Amino acid sequence: PDLKVISTLSVGFDHLALDEIKKRGIRVGYTPDVLTDATAELSVALLLSACRRLPEAAEQVKSGGWTTWKPLWMCGYGLSDSTVGIIGLGRIGQAVARRLKPFGVRKFLYTGSGPKPESAAEFGAEFVSLTRLAEESDFVVVTCALTPATQGMCNKDFFSRMKKTSVFVNTSRGAVVNQEDLYDALANGQIAAAGLDVTTPEPLPTDHPLLSLKNCVILPHIGSATYATRSTMAVLAANNLLAGLRGEPMPHELKL
Ligand code: NDP
Repeated sequence: PDLKVISTLSVGFDHLALDEIKKRGIRVGYTPDVLTDATAELSVALLLSACRRLPEAAEQVKSGGWTTWKPLWMCGYGLSDSTVGIIGLGRIGQAVARRLKPFGVRKFLYTGSGPKPESAAEFGAEFVSLTRLAEESDFVVVTCALTPATQGMCNKDFFSRMKKTSVFVNTSRGAVVNQEDLYDALANGQIAAAGLDVTTPEPLPTDHPLLSLKNCVILPHIGSATYATRSTMAVLAANNLLAGLRGEPMPHELKL
């Protein structure tokens, strides 16, 4: 009953009971911008790990699976001349596109609540429906917020529209994806590979079916985990909290 201020060490706020918080007049501080670069970098690392099969290949070196040179062994899919579809061209989505462009991406598509010509201009990105994005992308990168509208958005219908050679990457929130549908798509060869930094639940149980798949790379929610970024986030979160308690403007207050 006495709670006045919440400071979250994250840009995502899907874990907060916003209706109740608003009703009680509680102020919320969060940490946008300062984690954008680190999370975009991790998204690119995860995409490359999944499409070029890095964990699987590294395992082959350890297990003795690396024998004579074979032309098609450990082949994957590259970014050159590809179409990349970004779900949620926000701060992180744009930072991902900026980093992927120099790899030779031919076309960027994006989807969201509406076209954002100013954000999209830098990449010549085209606003399309979720359906078209699924059908035309060689790489799908999910960087949207988790909301009632995005929950379960990447489901059986979505994966069934993707190409068999396409790679799916999620660094937003696990609940944007229907994991059973993703498992089926990966196990049945409906899509080529996936990279997930976020899952439902977290941590993912070590006997989860997704962990049995060679074509699924799963990381333990480390998007913003660089020493420098976590340090900056911590200072910002502390300053948000102090400003909130003093009744002053917060460096980054969530507009409720
Ligand atoms: P932004 O608010 O800048 O971007 C969120 C994007 O979500 C917006 O572009 C918005 O598009 C999009 N979006 C909202 N509704 C929909 C929809 N129905 N369909 C498609 N897109 C939609 O946030 P950030 O880029 O800073 O962060 C994005 C998310 O990344 C965070 O909410 C968080 O969950 C996650 N994250 C994960 C991290 C990790 O460690 N893996 C680290 C940091 C963040 P529009 O404007 O068109 O509505």
